Amino acid sequence: MSIKITPELIAPCGMDCGVCKVYLTTVKSGVKGKGCTGCRPRRKKCAYLKGQCELIRNDRIKFCFECPTFPCAHLKGIDKRYIIGYNTSFIGNLLAIKEKGLAAFLKDEEQKWRCPDCGGTVSIHDCTCYEWGAIQKKR
Ligand SMILES: [Zn+2]
Repeated sequence: MSIKITPELIAPCGMDCGVCKVYLTTVKSGVKGKGCTGCRPRRKKCAYLKGQCELIRNDRIKFCFECPTFPCAHLKGIDKRYIIGYNTSFIGNLLAIKEKGLAAFLKDEEQKWRCPDCGGTVSIHDCTCYEWGAIQKKR
């Protein structure tokens, strides 16, 4: 069964916590109090921007695209790292959310990261399906 990607799993910076390997490991292990349940559920606001953004920290914006300085230098830095490392743009994700709405974005994400073999969720970080204990390499 794939993990449902809920609105709370999309971090302010555009990261989809639902496909994070730490999140997937945490959810599949079923061990409570360990690992990570996502930036928003843990009230970390955004793990990548940390406490550096006052607007996110004080809940004045929900997503970075709502910011007058979007995309800020910090977001651009993370974006570049994820494009190079994981072929995903946070800024691209944010623009998709802005244009299509969060519900449509979530649908696309579920489609994009669904394991073709078993329907489980493939992680953005290691392209691995976590359905059977992180043993199958995908893509
Ligand atoms: Zn699978």
